[in-house]
Amino acid sequence: MKLSLVVPCYNEEYNVKDFHNAVEKAFENEKFKYEIIFINDGSTDNTMRELKDLYDYSKQNIKIVNFSRNFGKEAGIYAGLKNAEGDFVSIIDADLQQRPEYVLEMVKFLEENQEYDSVVAYQAERKEGKFLSFCKHSFYKIINRTSDVEFVNGASDFRTFRKNVIESILELGEYYRFSKGLFSWVGYNNYYMPYEVEERAKGTSKWSFWKLWKYAIGGIVSFTTAPLKIATFLGCGFSLCAFVYFIVVLIQKIFFSIAVPGYATIVMLILLIGGIQLFSIGLIGEYLGRTYVEVKNRPIYIAKEVLNNKGKKNAKKN
Ligand code: UDP
Ligand code: MG
Repeated sequence: MKLSLVVPCYNEEYNVKDFHNAVEKAFENEKFKYEIIFINDGSTDNTMRELKDLYDYSKQNIKIVNFSRNFGKEAGIYAGLKNAEGDFVSIIDADLQQRPEYVLEMVKFLEENQEYDSVVAYQAERKEGKFLSFCKHSFYKIINRTSDVEFVNGASDFRTFRKNVIESILELGEYYRFSKGLFSWVGYNNYYMPYEVEERAKGTSKWSFWKLWKYAIGGIVSFTTAPLKIATFLGCGFSLCAFVYFIVVLIQKIFFSIAVPGYATIVMLILLIGGIQLFSIGLIGEYLGRTYVEVKNRPIYIAKEVLNNKGKKNAKKN
């Protein structure tokens, strides 16, 4: 098997067949064998029925990993990579925002350039609002300053890897999977290919601003412990200020007999320091909470069923 396409699907009933047709059309002149691995990530619409139709009638190799509930795209990617048999593996969305033709370009590039191990599609121009763009820009700035791994602004999950990279990624069995970080963490030689993102074919994006925010915080907590040091720095700074202020008050009292008036100052300081303490405890809590979940060592996903029509055809012959 030369190529595996990993396609996470969550409520994509109107897209999966169109996606499958687009892949067939893009690959019709290619002689190599490929498989499409659909991950049904606990869809609440008819995605699974549509996928089963494809599975029953398509001439292509199709696998379906049917999750017991919605585990998130990152878990979907993990399940797809685990079931992939191809020498090259591509991750691609089901909503046709990423044209399958690019996958062919990626595979050709890797075949012609043995020194590269993966091709990463990045959006040269982001098609989104200024505010969201600014937030994403800030996120990349913060995480690149504080983390050891490099994150490229605009790089998507739309990637093609050689098999050895996949093996390395699968060795990272953490529950909280921030894929972009994991892909960078394993290293290897990545080639960044510009691509133009299409409009979503049908349905709506699953990413709200709030979800993106949580995703960004998750990424930072997963890949840097720098925020934990904020509490230490703030603590040192405030101790120093308190000491200087203490000396000032003492001098005022002893030499100038000024009784400390500061009701407002005291209230302000209590609130300020209380706020900073709670913020610091919250930060520690973020890390501790994640450690707690990781220690439980629960599986990243639970698959109700895994269908593989290659196996099915063989079974019929026997
Ligand atoms: N997806 C998923 N599980 C989720 C959310 C999304 O498998 O919990 C899939 C979704 O079906 C799509 C891909 O991840 O194939 C990207 O999602 P979406 O198009 O909503 O994200 P966007 O393109 O807006 O970033
Ligand atoms: Mg999309």
